[in-house]
Amino acid sequence: MKCPQCAFEDTKVLESRLSHEGRSVRRRRSCVQCNYRFTTYEKEEEFSFQVVKKDGRVEAYYRQKALRSLQVACSKRPISMEQIEEMMDRIERAIQEHGERTVPSQKLGDMIMEALHAMDKVAYVRFASVYKDFKDPDEFLAELKGLS
Ligand SMILES: [Zn+2]
Repeated sequence: MKCPQCAFEDTKVLESRLSHEGRSVRRRRSCVQCNYRFTTYEKEEEFSFQVVKKDGRVEAYYRQKALRSLQVACSKRPISMEQIEEMMDRIERAIQEHGERTVPSQKLGDMIMEALHAMDKVAYVRFASVYKDFKDPDEFLAELKGLS
């Protein structure tokens, strides 16, 4: 991102905020050279990232897909769609702030699980049972015990 003041190529991101309506991200930036501060609005495709699956396949990250699986995990739980959206905002922001263009699917799953764990244990177990695809019932029970 070029500085509009001195055209220097490197700027520092001071703050990133996702806007809910426009699906864009608002960034406060500061020029590394002249310290000029300015704000940019970037569209979703400009800050989206890709997910690397376990078998090495790379696919675009789809927020809707993540939201859908979370909605299923959170159904009939005292969690609003807004809370789910906010949770994904935080996770996306953490990935973006890291500056990564790709993220392993396992890492993304772990981040979602961690956030769910703090929010609702039942939703966490539901999501974990799908995500971790437990082959062994003992493994699943061990996960459940870890919750208490
Ligand atoms: Zn500058």
